[in-house]
Amino acid sequence: MTHHPNYIGGEWVAAEAHVPNVNPSDTDDIVGEYALADASQARAAIAAARQAFPAWAALSSQRRFEYLDQIGSLLIARKHELGMLLAREQGKTLSNAMFEVERAGYTFKFFAGECLRMQGDHVASLRPGIDIDVTREPLGVIGVITPWNFPIGIPVWKIAPALAYGNCVVFKPPELVPACGWELARIIHEVGLPHGVFNLVVGKGRVVGEAMTTSPDVNGISFTGSVAVGRQIGLAAMQSGKKVQLEMGGKNPMVVLDDANVDLAADAALDAAFYFTGQRCTASSRLIVTDAIHDRFVAALRERMRRITVGHALDPATMIGPVVSEAQLAQNLEYLDVGKREGARLVEGGELLERPTKGYYMSPALFVDTANGMRINREEIFGPVAAVIRVRDYEEALHLANDTEFGLASSICTSSQKHAAHFRRYSQAGLVMVNLPTAGFEYHVPFGGTKASSYGSREQGRYAQEFFTTVKTSYMRPI
Ligand code: NAD
Repeated sequence: MTHHPNYIGGEWVAAEAHVPNVNPSDTDDIVGEYALADASQARAAIAAARQAFPAWAALSSQRRFEYLDQIGSLLIARKHELGMLLAREQGKTLSNAMFEVERAGYTFKFFAGECLRMQGDHVASLRPGIDIDVTREPLGVIGVITPWNFPIGIPVWKIAPALAYGNCVVFKPPELVPACGWELARIIHEVGLPHGVFNLVVGKGRVVGEAMTTSPDVNGISFTGSVAVGRQIGLAAMQSGKKVQLEMGGKNPMVVLDDANVDLAADAALDAAFYFTGQRCTASSRLIVTDAIHDRFVAALRERMRRITVGHALDPATMIGPVVSEAQLAQNLEYLDVGKREGARLVEGGELLERPTKGYYMSPALFVDTANGMRINREEIFGPVAAVIRVRDYEEALHLANDTEFGLASSICTSSQKHAAHFRRYSQAGLVMVNLPTAGFEYHVPFGGTKASSYGSREQGRYAQEFFTTVKTSYMRPI
């Protein structure tokens, strides 16, 4: 079995220990053995990034554009090969995995363009004979820490802007799914990015992640993951004086009103609650449905759920792959018990499934007769489990949609312009959808949430520059 080393200062650096990357569709299939870095390797990566920073920040924007554009082209050209790897290590279907890789390629291309679009302001001074310029400068060294659900998509939407705006990067992928991050490092090496500008250190959060979040030589941390870890990272970053951007959990509501198109609503709920095995931070886990459409909506959704095929990620017939790991599967099953104990009625799915290969398979689960106060409606499950909450009218639906500590995504299905417009204005979420699933977004516009879901400035699109740059105001008296 090939050992995959770390990538530090332009060199492939072996680690003392390794972690097997297990295919959740077939636990006999080991995708590879990946380095488990120690803290000294994390420190070496940070030092390499520091050293590379002045030259990278001073490089012409044309050259930076070329590097990023080339990385994007290679990702797109290899979408099938990398999609296969992604599907094997994470368990999402091959078509979804290929889409994620291709999207990562286009994200690099978008931020390649950003290298050329950097602007500042020339401002009139209050005093005669003085010029004021407001410009953006890179932060320095950025630590990128990511979760297991989008092994290439999420890292790229942080790494591409970090590099575009002139920063150097130390990237720690999750040790559960490091293969795609490792392949990204290989592509970056291939295009010849100057040594140290990008570094990869695979390892545990408590070791590599903490070395990054506590180091005084890291200027910013861009993190996506759970609320608990995000808050720890926020505190550590604050104590060591760095900028921090945290994208965390969700408990996203989809509201279905009496006047909704029931087929459209059931399709949207099926997609957002169960596709990608429910392992999306933007998944719809609370389906808030008004009285008159409730039974028709539940029947339409159940009928669609019964047609879902759960199977091996590489099987073309599969619509939903396995759960990512044994621990996550155990957590999903535990929440099914919690829901039943709380009095919710499980009307569909929630069974362990056997398939020709040994994997973490379960059927998507639907609860009805649930209350918004139940744990299954308060806590993020992060699996293919959704709960229906019956309400009287739009006002109660909006109230319950907002009655959560989270605020990432929300959706409403309705044919009423009035309710749609009101929801867009008053839904307390960073992403609001009308007649669309809560999940599914585009890379050229900002992404992020409110309340406990996010902290710091937005990711993606041009808004990404808020985090990855700092603003300088310079005054000059020409003589
Ligand atoms: P996690 O918080 O357990 O881990 C995320 C990353 O943090 C991993 O790389 C992990 O190794 C690292 N880490 C863990 N402890 C650390 C520490 N003490 N210091 C530094 N780094 C540490 O999350 P997960 O289980 O990988 O992912 C699932 C979570 O991610 C869910 O809560 C989900 O909602 C969230 N998520 C959010 C978004 C978003 O954009 N809002 C997107 C995807 C996933």
